[in-house]
Amino acid sequence: MIVYNLACDQNHPFEGWFSSPIDFENQRDRGLVECPICGSKTVERKLHAPRINVGAAPSNREQAVESATQADGDIDTAKLAQAVAGFVKGVRENTEYVGEKFAEEARAMHYGEKPHKGIRGRADKETARELREEGIEFQSLPFPVDFPNSH
Ligand SMILES: [Zn+2]
Repeated sequence: MIVYNLACDQNHPFEGWFSSPIDFENQRDRGLVECPICGSKTVERKLHAPRINVGAAPSNREQAVESATQADGDIDTAKLAQAVAGFVKGVRENTEYVGEKFAEEARAMHYGEKPHKGIRGRADKETARELREEGIEFQSLPFPVDFPNSH
């Protein structure tokens, strides 16, 4: 089952449970989804239900933002900070710090000279562009996570 945050044309928020996105659309189109407050059958999906899964850090920035987005579309800044902190922790635990050697290491893995592993490091904009042109996938992070591990 998936939980959708829904709102009617009067903007009354409510939740609906559906087996799939298609199930939601079918039920709505047949007039089976109605606002529990006013009974309106003009119902729209809102953003995903904002639920933070404490056990699993978001795997990217979009997920961190999404997990902190409330039903009304506002960002819960405390939740966002928590999600970003979890994300940074995950990056640090699952990658090796290579500092300025990021481009060199990324290329070595891409061209099969080294086994693949998670790395984090620095690259200037020009280098990042070149890596992308070579088809090397990586994520740019808007916040610092590239400090060496203490262990
Ligand atoms: Zn309503």
